[in-house]
Amino acid sequence: MHDTNAPRRYGLSKSRITSFEQCPKKLWLSVHRPEFAQHDEGAEMRFAGGNEVGEIACALHPQGVMVEAEPDLTAALAATTRLLGEGHPGPIFEATFQHEGVLVRVDVLERTESNAWRAAEVKSSTGVKDYHRGDLATQVWALREAGLELESAAIRHIDKTFELTRAGDYAGLFTDVDLLDELEDTIAGRAALVEQARAVLAGEEPELEMGDHCSSPFECEFAAYCGRDLPSGPKWPVTVLPRGGGKKWQTKGIENLLDLSPDDLSGTNAQILAATRDGVPFHNAEGARREIAGWGWPRAWLDFETIAPAVPRWIGTRPYQQIPFQFSLHLEQEDGTITHHEFLSCDGSDPRRTCAEALVEMIPSDATIVAYYAPFERRVLRDLAGWEPDLAESLLAKAEATVDLLPVTRNNWYHRDQRGSWSIKAVLPTIAPELDYATLEVKDGGNAQMAWHEAADQACSDARRGALSDALRAYCARDTWAMVTIARALENRT
Ligand code: SF4
Repeated sequence: MHDTNAPRRYGLSKSRITSFEQCPKKLWLSVHRPEFAQHDEGAEMRFAGGNEVGEIACALHPQGVMVEAEPDLTAALAATTRLLGEGHPGPIFEATFQHEGVLVRVDVLERTESNAWRAAEVKSSTGVKDYHRGDLATQVWALREAGLELESAAIRHIDKTFELTRAGDYAGLFTDVDLLDELEDTIAGRAALVEQARAVLAGEEPELEMGDHCSSPFECEFAAYCGRDLPSGPKWPVTVLPRGGGKKWQTKGIENLLDLSPDDLSGTNAQILAATRDGVPFHNAEGARREIAGWGWPRAWLDFETIAPAVPRWIGTRPYQQIPFQFSLHLEQEDGTITHHEFLSCDGSDPRRTCAEALVEMIPSDATIVAYYAPFERRVLRDLAGWEPDLAESLLAKAEATVDLLPVTRNNWYHRDQRGSWSIKAVLPTIAPELDYATLEVKDGGNAQMAWHEAADQACSDARRGALSDALRAYCARDTWAMVTIARALENRT
C-alpha cells in the first residue's frame, strides 16, 4: 500500500543539480516558488543561439537518431532503452537515462571503435567552463549507473578558430575536451550530492545570505526575491569607484564613499569623491578642448551595431565574430554643419559588402572618424577590409583615422549620477537628459541584436520588419548624436 506519510521524492535533472551547486536556495526556489524568478531579456536570444548550436552538432552526424521527448520523457526513456537494446550504432541524440530519480539527456552519444560509448555535452562557449564539469559528472554518473560502458566523456565546445569556407559546411566547428579521467573524483561524489539536493527540496526554504555566488556561474533569477528585505545600503557606495577600486575599502569595513576623505584617494577616484560629495560635476573643458583640438575636419561620428552569431552564417566569418549590420554617421563640418547618414541591413542577407560600400561612399576620405570606445569600430573596419579586399585600402585608412571620445570623456567629465561608469548611456543623461534612451523601443546593443534576429527571420512580416527597422534607426542615430552632444558639452561648445 502507498505510504501517504512518506516524504515526497523530488525528481532531479542535470540543470537542477547545477542550480543546487550554485546555491541550494536557488534549487529550492526553482522547484517550490518558480513564480519569484525574474528572467532577463536576453535569455530568449541565448536560448535560441544554444538551440542553433545543438542543431548543427546533430546535423554533423546525418546517420544519427534523435530521441524525442514526445509525448513525454517516459517515451524518451523507452526509446533510448529500445535503441540500445537493438544495438544502434549511434550517434544517438538526447539519449535519456534515469537513475535514482535523476533524469539526464545526453546531447550526443557515439560508439567508439571498441564498441563502448562516448558522451558529448554540446556547449556554445568557446572553452570549458567550471560548471560544465559538474554537468558532465552528473551525466557520467547516471549513464554508468544505467549500465553504459563509457570510454570518454567530453565537453564539445565551439572552436573559435573555425572559419566558414563553404555554405552550410560546419565540419570543424566543434572541438572535444575529454574530461573523463579528470572528473572521476567529482563523479564519485555525485550520489552524495544528489542526496543533499533531495534533502534540501524536502525541507523548508533554506536560509542563505546573498553573496558572490548569486552571480556565478549565472546571474541568479531570484536575486530580487532574496534581496527584498536587505537594507538599501548607502546612497553612494564605495563600489562606484571604477575598476574594482571600492573592494579595497570594503575589506576595511568602509561601504559609504562619503566616509572617505580626499586624502584617501587620488586621480580619477578623488574626482569621483569630490563630485559625489559636492554634487558638482567634475569638468575640465580646457583639457577636453586640448585633447579634441588635434582631430581634423570633417568629423565622422560613427557607431556600428553588430551581431556575433555562435554559428557563422556567412563565408569567411568565425564564431562570435562581430558582423556589422548597421551604422549611423553624423558628418560634421568645421562650420558646424551636420548631416546624418545611415546604413541598415536586417533582411537576413549578408550585410558586409553593402556595409563596406556604404562606409566608403558616405565617409569622406579625409574625415576624422570619432567613435565611443574606438577599438570596437576599428576592429569592425579592419574585419570588413579583410572580407572586401577591393575596398581594403579605404577601410584600413578609416580604421587608422578613428579617434576615441571615451578617454576624453573619462579624463574631463564626471557627474555623480554616472555612478562610476563612463558608458555613453551613463554619461548622456548627465549632459542631455532630454536624449533619454528609455523613450526608444531599442534601448541598447542587446535590444538591437534581438531586433535584428527578429527582423531577419523569414517569418517576420513586412510590417513588423519595417517597425523594427525604424526602431533600430532611431537607436543608432541616438548613439552618434549623443557623441556629438557630449563632445560639444565637454568643450563648452554649442
Ligand atoms: S539570489 Fe543568491 S541566495 Fe538567492 S537563491 Fe539566488 S543564488 Fe541563492
